[in-house]
Amino acid sequence: MQWWSDLVDLLSRHAVLPLLVWLHLDKLAGDPREIAESVMIAMLQIAIIAGIFRPLESLVPAERWSDRRLTRVDMQYTLMMLLGIFPLFSYLVLTPISHYFGGADTGPDDSASQSPLGIVHWFPVLGHHPLALFLVYYVIYDLVYYWMHRVQHALPWWWALHSMHHSQRQMSCWTNDRGSLVDGFIQSMVLAVVGLAIGVAPTEFAWLMLLGELVQNFSHANVRIGFGRLFGRLFVDPKFHRLHHMVVDPARPGLHNCNFGQVFSIWDVVFGTALYGEPVRPTGVGDPVVDADNRHGLVGLHWAAFRRFWGAVRRPAGWKFGEVSFGEGYRPVPVEHGPPPPAAAATAARQEAATAE
Ligand SMILES: [Zn+2]
Ligand SMILES: [Zn+2]
Repeated sequence: MQWWSDLVDLLSRHAVLPLLVWLHLDKLAGDPREIAESVMIAMLQIAIIAGIFRPLESLVPAERWSDRRLTRVDMQYTLMMLLGIFPLFSYLVLTPISHYFGGADTGPDDSASQSPLGIVHWFPVLGHHPLALFLVYYVIYDLVYYWMHRVQHALPWWWALHSMHHSQRQMSCWTNDRGSLVDGFIQSMVLAVVGLAIGVAPTEFAWLMLLGELVQNFSHANVRIGFGRLFGRLFVDPKFHRLHHMVVDPARPGLHNCNFGQVFSIWDVVFGTALYGEPVRPTGVGDPVVDADNRHGLVGLHWAAFRRFWGAVRRPAGWKFGEVSFGEGYRPVPVEHGPPPPAAAATAARQEAATAE
């Protein structure tokens, strides 16, 4: 597409390069065109969220809100991540890593087949079917994501960070990118290593990411949309992911441990964590320490998540698998599946009331 690469050139020469020079980052590995391209992909993504998903939220809302006050911080967050942090991160960290693995500038025929873990190395026939190869990559990538996501919930220091994604009471089309930067860094390192090991070249990676990100932006949207009995068991839809974000139900305390899939819901079906057929439930967390996130802006959110992380990671309890809440000094306290603490019940009740408004 000529117009696309012309636009990438334009943005690279007149915006990205001057900015890199100003930041003294222009001598580092990587091509400013790569930054320009990922900024343009990000703008495409934002246009789709704002132009399609957001209007759908007004048209077929899952929850009716009297205002969208709490969604604002998630929108700011998305703009910051997509237009700034992601492009810079992939330029400064991911591209050098992929150069190190020797996979950056060669096509899938070369780099992917050379990696002993590469799919093409084992199934050369896929080298001639780019679409099938893309699909196989994505399925593996998504399976790794599923298990990583389960660990994010089960390992207390990781939950200390991931809980920032879950603390949002008004889950919307902007919520997907809400997450601690430390969490984001660990996640992208895991996924990048997997991506590079199975032989995904960074250029494929960018479009692969966009597709997955759009599915996730949509699955966070406040819309009453499901994909039906069959497709809903293959792909994550907004109803499915909304249940993953449900507030702990004191009457059914294990129910919220469900629907961990990112793009394919089939992993939840296979590994027994799928939950279907529940009515819309309020989203957020029962732990009042984490719920306090809703009072914070961009910086405060990070500070709160980091303090939870620091409270957990340096204590043995922070490394013991299981569900926790945060006590004094952000100490992780295992949650007993008995009657809920009164504070959690009160939070849940308040949220029920808030959503009924
Ligand atoms: Zn989660
Ligand atoms: Zn989510």
